[in-house]
Amino acid sequence: MYRFIFLTVKMGSLVDVTFKLIRVPLIVQHCPCAGDVQEAAQLLANNEIRINCLDENGMTPLMHAVYKGKADMCRLLLQHGADVNCNQHEYGYTALMFAGLSGKTDITSMMLDAGAEIDLVNSVGRTAAQMAAFVGQHDCVTVINNFFSRARLDIYTRPQGVDPEPMLPAGLAGPLHKIIMTTNINPVKIVLLVRDEPALADPSALQRCCQVMELLCEQCMQQQDMNEVLAMKMHYLKCVLNKCRAFRQNKDDQLETLLRSLLRGRDTDGFPQYQERFIRDCIKKFPYCETNLLQQLVRSIAPVEIGNDPTAFAVLSQALTGQMAFVEGDYCMTCGEKGADKKCSLCKSVVYCSLACQKLHWFTHKKMCGSLQDQEPKPQETPRLKELKGKGNLLQLSRPTSNGRKTVTSTSRDHSEEDCRE
Ligand SMILES: [Zn+2]
Ligand SMILES: [Zn+2]
Repeated sequence: MYRFIFLTVKMGSLVDVTFKLIRVPLIVQHCPCAGDVQEAAQLLANNEIRINCLDENGMTPLMHAVYKGKADMCRLLLQHGADVNCNQHEYGYTALMFAGLSGKTDITSMMLDAGAEIDLVNSVGRTAAQMAAFVGQHDCVTVINNFFSRARLDIYTRPQGVDPEPMLPAGLAGPLHKIIMTTNINPVKIVLLVRDEPALADPSALQRCCQVMELLCEQCMQQQDMNEVLAMKMHYLKCVLNKCRAFRQNKDDQLETLLRSLLRGRDTDGFPQYQERFIRDCIKKFPYCETNLLQQLVRSIAPVEIGNDPTAFAVLSQALTGQMAFVEGDYCMTCGEKGADKKCSLCKSVVYCSLACQKLHWFTHKKMCGSLQDQEPKPQETPRLKELKGKGNLLQLSRPTSNGRKTVTSTSRDHSEEDCRE
């Protein structure tokens, strides 16, 4: 306990000795329960408190709260002006890095919303996403890789240059931002997001969104720290929105025709060919042909015959979200949402996230359901993850698919094998 009595404030080499000044860091570090958050709130009302004071390792109270996974305390400290990008830590860690290491996606999002910079690196040159990946916190990696601040989108809701009309009506910014932030890039999921958003019902609204997405894609490529991944995501989402627009223009108000096209499986094995071709086509249309990302994607997908693995979706999803699709958990057959737990009661071979998704899929699943029921019940297969030593950055993954075929997906790893510890 005593070591905290002489909290040094590194910047000014000042020493905080009064009880009030050290009480907040003490609370954060030792026993944050609900009562402590209240006590901290009362203390913080006193503006003498140095919210960004450092302990002997250069950690701020916010870093401690983040690392301990105390969301309420994090929120409180941020409200009182805690610096989310402070990196006086001895190894250059930031609050976002601690969030990624902790595996808490809610706190990771909170740090990003508070303006955490994604590109800051620790003392061995690793970003928060790389550190999270290193310790296997893939959900946090996904959250970081998919972050796009609302402020960057809101720029388009204000008139630019001589044009008095903003490019994006203010009412569309929220729904579009929700789509941009999705970590599930399954085209069915995106079409469902569009379908369920009244503000996007009009084809002209979708047209506006597409124009903004095109500019955002360009911006991601031209900014100083070029972000190919985010540019590809913007481009891909634009393609899906544009598809929705085209179907809506043909009076398909509910987008049911598009959803059915994306889900319809071929007669032989239920493989959704239209969806596969659509995603391949989106990738091919990426306007920056010279980028490494595009070339990597094309190399992974082009040699694969349609219907075999890896699917274009698996490859793209891995590239955009940093997550290896299908490593763990059950994905909804319809929308690709993780954690689906509703099995088809007849064949028990496919899972859905909701009754609505099951209903949407039935028109095509019913053709396969019978033959899946006839199959011998197979022993519970668990996905295996095997690292190929000495073969570059390749992970080989085998998984059982919906129809029992065993498939192999090769995906390149988005982080270095090197140690990212201090
Ligand atoms: Zn679903
Ligand atoms: Zn079934």
